[in-house]
Amino acid sequence: VALKPAKKVDSTCPYCGVGCQLTFNVADDQILSVDGKAGPANLNRLCVKGRFGFDYARHPERLTQPLVRRDDAPKRADDADRIDPANPLTHFRIASWEEALERAAGGLRTIRDRDGGGALAGFGSAKGSNEEAYLFQKLVRTGFGTNNVDHCTRLCHASSVAALIEGIGSGAVTAPVQAVLDAEVALVIGANPAVNHPVAATFIKQAVRQRGLKLIVADPRGQALDRFASHSLRIKGGSDVALLSGMLCTIVEEGLVDEDYVRQHVDGHEAFAESVRQFTPEAMAPLCGIPAETIREVARLFAKSRASIVFWGMGISQHVHGTDNSRCLIALCLLTGQVGRAGTGLHPLRGQNNVQGASDAGLIPMVFPDYQRVDGGARALFEEAWGQSLDATPGLTVVEIMHAMEEGRIKGLYVMGENPAMSDPDLAHARAALAKLEHLVVQDIFLTETAAYADVVLPASAFPEKTGTFTNTDRRIQLGRQAIDPPGEARQDLWLVEELAIRLGLPWQHRTPAAVFGEMAGLMPSLAGINWDRLERDGSVTYPLDPLTGEGQAVIFGDAFPTPSGRGRVVPVSLVPPDEPPDGEYPLLLTTGRVLEHWHTGAMTRRAGALDALEPEPFVALSPKELDRLGLPRGGMVEVSTRRGSIRLQARPDRDVAPGNLFIPFCFREAAANLLTNPALDPYGKIPEFKLCAARVSVP
Ligand code: SF4
Repeated sequence: VALKPAKKVDSTCPYCGVGCQLTFNVADDQILSVDGKAGPANLNRLCVKGRFGFDYARHPERLTQPLVRRDDAPKRADDADRIDPANPLTHFRIASWEEALERAAGGLRTIRDRDGGGALAGFGSAKGSNEEAYLFQKLVRTGFGTNNVDHCTRLCHASSVAALIEGIGSGAVTAPVQAVLDAEVALVIGANPAVNHPVAATFIKQAVRQRGLKLIVADPRGQALDRFASHSLRIKGGSDVALLSGMLCTIVEEGLVDEDYVRQHVDGHEAFAESVRQFTPEAMAPLCGIPAETIREVARLFAKSRASIVFWGMGISQHVHGTDNSRCLIALCLLTGQVGRAGTGLHPLRGQNNVQGASDAGLIPMVFPDYQRVDGGARALFEEAWGQSLDATPGLTVVEIMHAMEEGRIKGLYVMGENPAMSDPDLAHARAALAKLEHLVVQDIFLTETAAYADVVLPASAFPEKTGTFTNTDRRIQLGRQAIDPPGEARQDLWLVEELAIRLGLPWQHRTPAAVFGEMAGLMPSLAGINWDRLERDGSVTYPLDPLTGEGQAVIFGDAFPTPSGRGRVVPVSLVPPDEPPDGEYPLLLTTGRVLEHWHTGAMTRRAGALDALEPEPFVALSPKELDRLGLPRGGMVEVSTRRGSIRLQARPDRDVAPGNLFIPFCFREAAANLLTNPALDPYGKIPEFKLCAARVSVP
């Protein structure tokens, strides 16, 4: 008998940063269906993940009881492969909450008291709420005594944020997605919104169809937005600086700089202009694969338009030159005055639904909440608020923490909702590092590949099982509301963080998400004027509020930037080649990314029935010509190898992939793409070069 919905609960989609609002139709403690809600970011629209991606919450593999590692199950580097998430009792035993929490905290306490806080680290998650992120980083800084706390922003937009803070004093977007409806020109570069931000893509298409938007798409891979583009630039992998520098050179040489705007708002422009003169379109054309005249044409289009906006994604940020890529985009907008007005701006498309909020809340090793440096004057403010002295040394980032684990400098790790055994580059190294830990506590909803290495596994709550705030890519703070209960003995993440804090000697008391948000608002200037009652009432509030009207400001930095001088800065860039270009041994270029149906490492969407049915198997996409040239079977099994490892998966012909390139989604645990990827880091954002490495393909 089909159940009828007994209640409707308004909430927010847990997947991408678009932040679509939705309504759960619930009966018998189950989500029966989902409707799109008229939220400001989605106007009733949902993509396939938001519509069909929630039955993971009742999947039989959900963790429902605390687990501790059995004494006869030593950790090994291949635990991610040898432990079946459906049958964890081969390596774990069920424990009471009291035993699990005491073991979890006791191991961390022992290391802290013996080796100091620097021997501990914590990975929070951009899937969690703002309140969870805030309490998690507070626990690491106060209970562990270290700033070694980070999350997946390090693997997605760390280089963008480094460049944005340097250039305009803020890592957040200057304008929302829907600003594209007011734009005359949009540049979408290193992003595939139709797959990764599908509802955002619908607004870009709408702007083309209804408002005459000129759309420039620049990416090595073809994509659905190409059909809407006035210019579809299939650039060579890793050549973003070449393309953008050619555009910037054109703008400088042809007098397209907005001199009035630059005089009033921009520093460093003279040195920058001098530095880009060498990057003529003719010199850049062979590097990026785009004709010089086309580079000039799109530069003129962008600079001369009434309003131009830039959207970018991981194709810009995940490079050893990721920060330089973003510096170019910032320069493009600042030199042409395309920021701070309707239809203009800089918009790094955020990946996870709360990567903006988790970063704002301080899940970053070098800054407290609201990007206040741990080695600056703000420390005294946090010491007073949190009632103890704090470490003044910036902590280690995600990949640095993995190195420190392998070297034995970090001995204990607490992971809330992250999955570094799938998401880090060079997974063999990352997994070996996890296996070396003296003590690993993992808090999650499934026995993830990372939880396979844990000493203690704490069963946590899925997104529809808890209430909290989430900040989308537009800087909108939105409420996610509890619709169903956690299964079995699984608990709320906020409760778990607080239980560990208490056992680490902190005088914390259990508080509601509303109370935690109140504490955050008192310490974060960006939240000035925003309170829980308003969030309950409006469901969505954009920060910062206008101090005069009290309304959220969608487009910011019209008058000044939040830098000490109030001015932006353009910074010269270099042409840096990929860290690992193809060669005779590994002649192909491998890039990784996502597919529409699956989210990141697949822990949730691979367990959502409809989504997994749509895209059930790992594959490598190659151009049909490349498949034929290499004599590979279409649809057959192939082996892809790099200097770090090999995986076997299906070969899929795909005309969107350029000859000489390979594309592999990173969501499939059976053929984990990150066993192959290169851990080389951008020197500023410390982000790995996921987007390019040398590879070869063969028939196994
Ligand atoms: Fe969810 Fe993003 Fe899809 Fe919206 S576009 S429904 S936020 S995954």
